Amino acid sequence: MTSEKQPELTPPTTDLACAIREHVSAALGNPAAPVLLHRPFFPAQAWDYVKECLDSGWVSSAGNYVARFEDMLANATGCRRAVAMINGTTALEVSLLLAGVKRGDEVLCPSLSFVATANAISHCGGAPHFVDVCSKRLSISVDALADRLKEVAAMTRDGAVNRHTGRRIAVLCVMHCFGHPADLDALLGICEKYRITLVEDAAESLGSFYRGRHTGRTGLISAVSFNGNKILTTGGGGAILTDDDALADRAKHLTSTAKIPHLYEFRHDEVAWNYRLPNLNAALGVAQLEVLDHIVRAKRSLAEHYRSHLSPIAGIELLLEPDDCFSNYWLNTIILPENPDCSLRDQVLNELNRSGLQSRPIWVPMHMLPMYASCTRGPMEVSESLYRRLVNIPSSPELSPDWVGC
Ligand SMILES: *Cc1c(COP(=O)(O)O)cnc(C)c1O
Repeated sequence: MTSEKQPELTPPTTDLACAIREHVSAALGNPAAPVLLHRPFFPAQAWDYVKECLDSGWVSSAGNYVARFEDMLANATGCRRAVAMINGTTALEVSLLLAGVKRGDEVLCPSLSFVATANAISHCGGAPHFVDVCSKRLSISVDALADRLKEVAAMTRDGAVNRHTGRRIAVLCVMHCFGHPADLDALLGICEKYRITLVEDAAESLGSFYRGRHTGRTGLISAVSFNGNKILTTGGGGAILTDDDALADRAKHLTSTAKIPHLYEFRHDEVAWNYRLPNLNAALGVAQLEVLDHIVRAKRSLAEHYRSHLSPIAGIELLLEPDDCFSNYWLNTIILPENPDCSLRDQVLNELNRSGLQSRPIWVPMHMLPMYASCTRGPMEVSESLYRRLVNIPSSPELSPDWVGC
């Protein structure tokens, strides 16, 4: 019996770029005005809370909104404590310091992440040690990590040491890419085996859960971001999350100039930072956290909407939440067929952006950036391939088909 093989219906590259542009546009109701990648949503209360700061004069580091924001954040994530900070990068830097990263230590992390991940490591005196990602979750690959540690790690009294560099491997910093949780249990298992501390860069994953647990709760300590393009924004801002009261207290002290509380005296007991989040920004954060569920629901329904509109296009894939996870779908992601010189990706980005549908590629993997090119690393095939194939399309909550403000 001969079976006739179904021909692959992948259109030629230019046609594919046009097809993607047409389908994305149709999914959004063929909008006339430019559509931004991620426009923040501010509920009516935001104006009231910010006005209250202006009226009362409490716009800076003192004021009630910071503590309220921290409590709400702890509540929303199920963490015991949240400590607000000026941005996500500083929150990650403080997380790594408190997790024990010392000058000369290595921190395992993905190369395919926003540059802040490696910058935070560097600012603590650590050296990024890049590991490849998995193509299903876009976060650190469990297999690549296990292989890498098997190859380079020697166990000593101080924990794992990289046989090639002689440096201690202190921390694994996982990142939940575009809101899709990494395989935390498997990664934690590897960390325990090698006595490496787990820290989460949860900058993109507020509202995302791994096996029912909010991201940021598996590691010792983690960082979230409230930058303008994130799922919630305070204009600029971030926070650390932890279940450890001592770590949270220490984070607060270190990031607020190590001042000993006193009615009037200025006494500080160590070299510290001013990474405090102003009350004005925290007020915006309180208003935003009140509608987090609303926003996550809208983003999940937009993802579902894209899925039904874009799945007829042969040759592309949409990134979906892992089976055991609930994702905030921060940025919707198209994965293109392999195109060795990024030519197809660039055609798609040109088509979309020229027609007002603001879209972007993923970050250039950090091992390809000048300041991180000489960092120690494992193989990077998946990161490099995804870099050439990935496109994020407009993902604002208001684009959801059943969006109603509030
Ligand atoms: C946004 C982001 C950060 C940093 O947050 P900022 O608030 O911009 O400093 C860190 N890591 C990742 C993965 C991010 O996406």
